[in-house]
Amino acid sequence: MTDDSTAERNALRTIFPNARLILCAFHVCQAFWRWLCVTDHKVDIMKRQSIMMRFRNILFVTDPEEAVKLYEGLTMDEYIKTMPDLLNHLSNLLEQRLEWCISSGRVDLLTRGNNTNNITEASIRILKDVILQRCKAFNACALVDFITSIFENYFQRRIISYANTRKTKDSIYAMFMKTARNIKNISKVNDNEYSVESETNSNTFYTVRDDLAVCDCDAEKCGRFCKHLCTIEQKSGVIFPNSPRLSIHDRILLARIAMGIR
Ligand SMILES: [Zn+2]
Repeated sequence: MTDDSTAERNALRTIFPNARLILCAFHVCQAFWRWLCVTDHKVDIMKRQSIMMRFRNILFVTDPEEAVKLYEGLTMDEYIKTMPDLLNHLSNLLEQRLEWCISSGRVDLLTRGNNTNNITEASIRILKDVILQRCKAFNACALVDFITSIFENYFQRRIISYANTRKTKDSIYAMFMKTARNIKNISKVNDNEYSVESETNSNTFYTVRDDLAVCDCDAEKCGRFCKHLCTIEQKSGVIFPNSPRLSIHDRILLARIAMGIR
């Protein structure tokens, strides 16, 4: 998952010819918003925000039929029908939908709920803001020193802090727990599969695989942690790799990484 950088995507395509390249949702939205704001495209300033919101809905909806309906609704809009450049741009985006539209086969990819590449963006921000403090290193040797001393110490402190559960996502886990407690009907199908009743509809059951830490409920097919996984976690006592909680093994491993112990 990258932004729409031709050089980066070509390089990935060459090295990993069988990989499916997808686009970061944030960068797709950012590029569309910039397109709307170009004066030459003559999009009414008062209409830009509503067009953007409607495009965003197409991007994030998980049901393919709903995505088609939203796209048709957008292109049939009385104002948009009078904008040939915008219609053309939307049509080009539609051709690329496998790369950016969540409903176009992307829900089945194990993205663990990540639709943006903000993790990589954040590490560059740390480098610029925290390590270099928005200043230029005065020479290459100073830059090497920043990376090997300040950058190294920064990550050591952060990882130890995380391993000591000072930065864990306990509040997020509590939210899952709140709804997971209401799920009563759970049965084991085989060694690795559980059938878990929907919290909102007693006629619906989801399949949870504890070996892969995945659930087939609508929102979480991509492998994100959900209330059904939380229920199984509580029942079986294991901690899944995508859980917001840290196991004792995770904490030891993080501490070893931070301290450089093999
Ligand atoms: Zn689920």
